[in-house]
Amino acid sequence: MVSTKNVSKSDEILSVASTRGFFFPTAGIYGGRAGFYTYGHLGKLLKSNWEFLWRKHFLSKDNFWEVQSNNILPEPVFKASGHLENFSECRVKCSKCNSEFRIDDIVLDDSKCLKCNNKLVLSKDDGFNMMFPLVVGSGEKAYLSPETAQGAYITFKDEFKATRGKLPLGLAILDKAYRNELSPRNLFFRLREFSQAELQIFFNPDLPGFPDDVEWKGIKDYGLLLAQADNNHKVSKVSCSDAFKKFKLPKFYLSGLVRVQKFFLDIIGVPSDKFRLFEVPEGDRAFYNRIHYDVEILLDSLGGFKEVAGVHYRGDHDLSRHQSLSKEKLEVFHDGKRFIPHVLELSFGVDRNVWLLFDIFYHKDLKKSDTLLFRFPKLLAPFQVSVLPLVNKEGLDVKALEIHNSFRNAGISSFFDDSGSIGKRYARNDEAGTPFCVTVDGQTLDDESVTIRVRDTSEQSRVKIGELIITLQRLLSR
Ligand code: ATP
Repeated sequence: MVSTKNVSKSDEILSVASTRGFFFPTAGIYGGRAGFYTYGHLGKLLKSNWEFLWRKHFLSKDNFWEVQSNNILPEPVFKASGHLENFSECRVKCSKCNSEFRIDDIVLDDSKCLKCNNKLVLSKDDGFNMMFPLVVGSGEKAYLSPETAQGAYITFKDEFKATRGKLPLGLAILDKAYRNELSPRNLFFRLREFSQAELQIFFNPDLPGFPDDVEWKGIKDYGLLLAQADNNHKVSKVSCSDAFKKFKLPKFYLSGLVRVQKFFLDIIGVPSDKFRLFEVPEGDRAFYNRIHYDVEILLDSLGGFKEVAGVHYRGDHDLSRHQSLSKEKLEVFHDGKRFIPHVLELSFGVDRNVWLLFDIFYHKDLKKSDTLLFRFPKLLAPFQVSVLPLVNKEGLDVKALEIHNSFRNAGISSFFDDSGSIGKRYARNDEAGTPFCVTVDGQTLDDESVTIRVRDTSEQSRVKIGELIITLQRLLSR
């Protein structure tokens, strides 16, 4: 158990994360490197569970698929996408300690070096491209992809044909992205290697059928939590039909916002007062984004609302650019006309989403002032149950292992934990966010019963082994 006195929330999370095996600095044995983290066994399970829920929510539509492209892509891809020309950061360099920072991270009026804290004159230039260059084979230029989106655009032609030429077509990629960030900071928020879950929806902008009438009827009264630029980004709940009329947001865009908001509020369990759809004003968004709202979540550990995803209406920018550079026809014949499909992109930073789980579901037990637990939703928790044999009595371990294996066979993710005092084991499982512990004790061998302990209340109840799986399945589905 980690002592949590007088430390900030992010320090506590970091401490539990490394002791329990959620994540570690990469190459820690060599001192670690800024902007790189490694998921440990619990972190990888948590991340995979988030990805599972993402896939389930966003890919449950007909003609929405997941594809996998490459992390290394040839130079022409990034010429067409504009990354070669525009994906650069304005940087400032400290003339004393030589550290470099993104200009966004420095308040220029009062420019203090973030590393040595000296009030210094900072030299400024704007020519730092954030892509990692590579040489493939004996000399072909390539780059590590800074976003998964390009993989979907260059696959569009093949997939459109293979899926028999239907629109809307959704192509999702969950994979790594690489950006040579100048000043990696804020933990999972500015990494140099990170994961994205991005869905590109290709559609006909002139067809009123996206979303279709049934879908629109289902969402038109749904209240979006919009933080409009011209309202000082104050959040107000606006129904889709009002946003359509007042803010001129197209229906397809609203259907994307609804799906994203529902994912955060209903699937992940983010409280609505910590969620907002932040309108990115024209001057701050990429020129090709015709409409752009970011999903921002209020995170105490990072001191405010932070971006974890974005909803981008990119028009026909990407396919047009790839068409003109590759000389391959990317326009389609659909609904009786020839055109280049438009793209609505739902873009999520997976690691930022994992961090928000630690922040949002962090809980301190006030009765036991030193106890920290993560109240992860049951489907996100790395393990749904832990099996703990209590005393070292003959046959007890065997019984406990039988129960553990029966959980696994029933599709319940189970951890077998037989070392240390029972108090320590409960605390350890609370820190791992395991919703239920099943304790096998002396009484088990006499009457075939065990106790189930609930993480969030510490309440315990006795259950017969024969009814254990069904009881647990019931508890997990609530
Ligand atoms: P920021 O403004 O924070 O640099 P961005 O607007 O450049 O982010 P996008 O290019 O829209 O980000 O990428 C989509 C998503 O990928 C972001 O919403 C974020 O969740 C994630 N992301 C982007 N850059 C990073 C990074 N360096 N580390 C971790 N996640 C990132």
